[in-house]
Amino acid sequence: MGYALTRIDMHIHSDFSDGLNTPREIVEFALTRRFDSICIADHVSRDTGWLDDFLMEIKALRNEFEGRIEILAGLEVEVLDMRGNLDVDPTRVSSADLVLASFHWIPGKSGRMSWRAIRMDRAIALENWFTAMRAVLRNKQVKMIAHPGFILKSYKIEIPTYVKEEVAVLAGRSGVVFEHNHKYRVPDDEFLSLLQTEGARILPGSDAHSLVELDELWRSWPDV
Ligand SMILES: [Zn+2]
Ligand SMILES: [Zn+2]
Repeated sequence: MGYALTRIDMHIHSDFSDGLNTPREIVEFALTRRFDSICIADHVSRDTGWLDDFLMEIKALRNEFEGRIEILAGLEVEVLDMRGNLDVDPTRVSSADLVLASFHWIPGKSGRMSWRAIRMDRAIALENWFTAMRAVLRNKQVKMIAHPGFILKSYKIEIPTYVKEEVAVLAGRSGVVFEHNHKYRVPDDEFLSLLQTEGARILPGSDAHSLVELDELWRSWPDV
């Protein structure tokens, strides 16, 4: 799969959250690797105290490097429940360039499903994820789905084709970007091709947490 002539990475973590490098180090490195556009996306939640500092820093870098590389500020935010609510103050998200909705766990009836509950009923886990995904795609705050399907893959739960199809249709209609995630290798080929068929927007993201990882993930990505 090609991504036209632009070299884009929509998902790089800095040391504002759990990455190793500063935003400036990431930008300077990305220039040496001839990226046209990067999104520095850090994990935030409702009680994140450094959000304004992060946004100011990205804005300053964007101005400094204008014309050489596009720099976006992204917020990677957990999906809290099956209604598609996010773990972020809704009044704060507009100050970022994009919100990446993420599943690092599977929502249950109240809170997250435990590993034991998922193991006991994988069909319910899939259903909950599917319900939450449909709701997230209706949430106007969300601009991108990070590593789509990764959480199910991590529990070895296959996504049936009809589920991929329905998500692809909603993705196409909503305009929400689906990340082609280098690190977790999701979505799979079938899911990607359904997303493309339905006109969904797909952009690459490494999900790198260091410059070394950024380099490695891009080197081992044969399709771009
Ligand atoms: Zn993530
Ligand atoms: Zn991430």
